[in-house]
Amino acid sequence: MDRADGLAHYRKRFVGAETDLVYFDGNSLGRPPVAAIERMDRFLREDWGGRLIRGWDEAWMQLPFEIGDRIGRAVIEAKAGQTVIGDSTTVLLYKLARAAVDAQLARDPGRREIVVDSDNFPTDRYVLDGIARERGLRLRWIEVDTSSGVTPEHLAEAVGPDTALVVLSHVAYRSAYLADAQELTRIAHDAGALVLWDLCHSAGSVPVRADHWGFDLAVGCTYKYLNGGPGSPAFAYVRDDLQDVLAQPIQGWMGTADVFAMGPEYRPARGIRRFISGTPPIVGMLAMEETLAMIEEAGIGAIRAKSVALTSYAMTVADEWLAPLGVQLASPVDSEERGGHVTLEHPAMREVTARLWQQDVIPDYRDPGGLRLGLSPLSTSFEEVHRGLAATRDQLRAVLTERAGLA
Ligand SMILES: *Cc1c(COP(=O)(O)O)cnc(C)c1O
Repeated sequence: MDRADGLAHYRKRFVGAETDLVYFDGNSLGRPPVAAIERMDRFLREDWGGRLIRGWDEAWMQLPFEIGDRIGRAVIEAKAGQTVIGDSTTVLLYKLARAAVDAQLARDPGRREIVVDSDNFPTDRYVLDGIARERGLRLRWIEVDTSSGVTPEHLAEAVGPDTALVVLSHVAYRSAYLADAQELTRIAHDAGALVLWDLCHSAGSVPVRADHWGFDLAVGCTYKYLNGGPGSPAFAYVRDDLQDVLAQPIQGWMGTADVFAMGPEYRPARGIRRFISGTPPIVGMLAMEETLAMIEEAGIGAIRAKSVALTSYAMTVADEWLAPLGVQLASPVDSEERGGHVTLEHPAMREVTARLWQQDVIPDYRDPGGLRLGLSPLSTSFEEVHRGLAATRDQLRAVLTERAGLA
């Protein structure tokens, strides 16, 4: 399968891929692109070290917009001027969700609900809970099964004339359930609600068509499939016709119409710039550009095809080796409903994960009993999946044998 894989050569372009370590966490912190080493070095010596503050006059000021547009083109299918690199995903979620509910309340004070699912990523739930308290709104929870996600039927039941905003993840962080973002957006719009999509687990592994699917707002991580490095800043998408209608709550000087006028009061810029608050985190934007170059070259369609092949292969092997030991699949069987990772459940997985880490096999553990295999398409080989699952089988057997001995 590696020999037949047209994207196999990308693996060499990541630091550490030549070692025997098995990495199943590229959906949580992607490996560094080799080209980023040289890029960072040159940046430190020439740009930061050489240009010093003059760097802001040139490239740096434009970088959040340039990389944003590049993400728009290569990753989320958004035309220019709607995507920007900003703060962390958490902070961008806050800024966009607050801006959206405020715009809705101004239009219709009866819209006092935010719809979110019970298995959405913790930061999404916590941020929305905070906004609801700040603005006297209610959260309306969609209860979902942890091995699945939000369906059109779920959403249709939850939205109505009270809904201000719907916040959903495109790919669920636990189960990898891939939501039908176009249909869910349509359902929310029919109810008069705005939608904020969290693309953290889809950006760079699953095609997103932000403009075509009628998105209002979206945010996404860059340190997962985009390999931006630990804590690299997130991106935000705001559809162009909403930009001048929305007022984001963290009114900083970098989002004003004339940054260096330093005037007496905040006057937001027109366009996407107003969603920036403070000085852009330039150093954190360097590594992701190397991944964007690879995505532009390979194409997100081919990346998705490899991702489906990797997760399907992992499921086939798990079915053969792990199912007889009592392991259950906690991700959708149908690849059309599955993102770039696979979760396998067994009550012993917490201990199995700890043992695997000792042997340089690095999956993730998520309660309840979930071993999560994140298979980053550009840096993961089929051989790596095979080796990692063999180690998982051996460790699970060992734990089960020990437990049987104790009993
Ligand atoms: C990883 C992830 C985040 C992380 O947010 P940070 O602010 O970068 O910590 C948020 N939402 C989802 C769905 C995620 O998967």
